[in-house]
Amino acid sequence: MTDISSRLTHVQERIRRAEQEAGRPAESVRLLAVSKTQPASAIRSAYANGQRAFGENYLQEALEKIEQLSDLNLEWHFIGPIQSNKTKAIAQHFDWVHSVDRERIVSRLGEQRPAELPPLNICLQVNIDAEASKAGVAPSQLPALAAAVAKQTNLKLRGLMAIPAPKSDFNAQRESFRRLAQLAESLKDEGHLVDTLSMGMSDDLEAAIDAGSTLVRIGSALFGPRQQK
Ligand SMILES: *Cc1c(COP(=O)(O)O)cnc(C)c1O
Repeated sequence: MTDISSRLTHVQERIRRAEQEAGRPAESVRLLAVSKTQPASAIRSAYANGQRAFGENYLQEALEKIEQLSDLNLEWHFIGPIQSNKTKAIAQHFDWVHSVDRERIVSRLGEQRPAELPPLNICLQVNIDAEASKAGVAPSQLPALAAAVAKQTNLKLRGLMAIPAPKSDFNAQRESFRRLAQLAESLKDEGHLVDTLSMGMSDDLEAAIDAGSTLVRIGSALFGPRQQK
């Protein structure tokens, strides 16, 4: 087995075990392979082993790989910080965006999503631990932002995403994820059809799955350590 093949198997086993320990149905959690800084060849290897959904943070790098891999049937997720001048290319080339955190980005993505494509799937990024350094909407601003997405016919609100402050303890990790899950429940109470909780990375996927994650975003555990950008 190649490195990526064995790492993919290992990550899938971690996910299945966490689902089981949380008493959740098998395969209720999807794996998003975070391929930032990885070459197109690494994505091809993961694809050869059955992986279809890939997450990218940097637009230029992502567009090059999307072009190089256009012969494969891949699902592309944008998960990085979004500057206004990048929304057009994101709306044209991606299937999902997880890092939407302000209304200006919502309206631009909605206007720029090509009408011949299916609606762009949107997760709102929440600054769940109120960190000054981190992107994401404050929980108090979430209802207004969700309403803005719901107004856009070319966008589809799918759920919430967060990157909690790093913690090594399982219970502490889970506490942040539970707060995100509660925010998603509040959106459902307001009538939004939310089905996605994008939470959990290489070091905390078990706690995220315990708290109800439906999609884990995994980079280093799949592809090995990243080179610094
Ligand atoms: C890099 C990144 C990940 C993957 O992180 P790992 O710790 O390598 O699994 C997940 N989500 C986002 C938003 C990222 O930027």
